[in-house]
Amino acid sequence: MKVLIVGAGPTGLTTAVELARRGLLPRIVDRRDSASTLSRAVGVTSRSLELLSYSGVSEKLIAEGIAVQSACIYLNTHLALEFPLHSDRTYFPAILGLPQDRTEALMAQVLSGMGVEVEYRKELKTLTEEKSGVVAFFDNGEEERFDLVVGADGIRSTVREAAGISYPGFDLEEVWSIADVDTGDWPPRRKFTLVKMESGVVAVAVPLGEGRHRLVASCDNAIKAFPMAVDVKRVRREGTFKISIRQAETYSKGRIHLAGDAAHCHSPVGGRGMNLGIADAAELAKRITEGQLLGYSELRHQEDKKVIEVTERGRKMITGQSLKARFEFRALIAAASSIPAVRRKLGQFAVEL
Ligand SMILES: Cc1cc2nc3c(=O)[nH]c(=O)nc-3n(C[C@H](O)[C@H](O)[C@H](O)COP(=O)(O)OP(=O)(O)OC[C@H]3O[C@@H](n4cnc5c(N)ncnc54)[C@H](O)[C@@H]3O)c2cc1C
Repeated sequence: MKVLIVGAGPTGLTTAVELARRGLLPRIVDRRDSASTLSRAVGVTSRSLELLSYSGVSEKLIAEGIAVQSACIYLNTHLALEFPLHSDRTYFPAILGLPQDRTEALMAQVLSGMGVEVEYRKELKTLTEEKSGVVAFFDNGEEERFDLVVGADGIRSTVREAAGISYPGFDLEEVWSIADVDTGDWPPRRKFTLVKMESGVVAVAVPLGEGRHRLVASCDNAIKAFPMAVDVKRVRREGTFKISIRQAETYSKGRIHLAGDAAHCHSPVGGRGMNLGIADAAELAKRITEGQLLGYSELRHQEDKKVIEVTERGRKMITGQSLKARFEFRALIAAASSIPAVRRKLGQFAVEL
């Protein structure tokens, strides 16, 4: 079977690794000049590590990443709650902090060992589906027929557009900011930190490695957003972004299948974007090799929808300014700080989500 994967982000790479592991060597193309250097996703969940363990990717990720031990929640400068990010019931007991570019590099390394190289500087222009296959048209004029095409080409997916699959949802007005920084004494090294300000602004620090953090805030300056002094030694990258919450109406149409951001996007609250893409990809690859593609769309659409809904509830509770949102957030903090079982459950939930 000839399979084309469009996009060599974490979703496309996982699809390729999982297909190759099962003996089906796909073609994987990306329009970028070379591997990405962007650190976008910073938390690899236990579920992703489990899915990537069969190919040997996980052991490389774990060797390079940093296990995030606990979460600290501040109300302004006051530490209101700290709970362990731990579960005994999962493949990996914590959340692994690792920048996305390293996750992708290690996936590509394993893929290369299996005999598949990413073809960079190759952009898919469009697709036409015929009875006997899907014809892919590339920017260099090349065209080729495939039995199956996987659209792992991100939010503005060409594959999704060519297949005529709609991507309903909405875009938030607010601007968020992000900064990857080398740090000294604060924020804490192995802890996830969330600060909720009276103004409604939320600022988050996630450890990326020894002495390195990702800062994110629901305003236009992630470093200045913190009410306490962040010990910044060097700014590696800063920027702003907007959030969209969308999900494709279906993930499959004929011989074309979507996975990852091409199929869904949501807020970074909960850090699930890349991880959902890895789960879509592992399921899709398994079904391709087992000839069980019927049901892929329904299963993953449902699973992803649940996570998008939980993530949205979390985003509204954390950033919401309504009386209800403030009450819910404070009630959760009060319950968790006084009841050890609630603290434990919170940490388990975050690791198992
Ligand atoms: C600022 C920021 C912070 C984030 N933080 C987190 C986080 O903490 N945790 C988390 O889980 N997620 C996070 N995410 C989301 C995460 O980065 C995405 O969910 C993840 O990258 C999706 O992976 P993907 O492989 O589906 O798509 P992408 O990573 O977007 O990869 C798609 C690839 O397709 C290629 N491509 C596109 N069109 C074509 C074409 N026509 N032909 C050939 N190639 C093409 C692109 O060049 C790209 O390499 C964050 C995102 C952003 C922007």
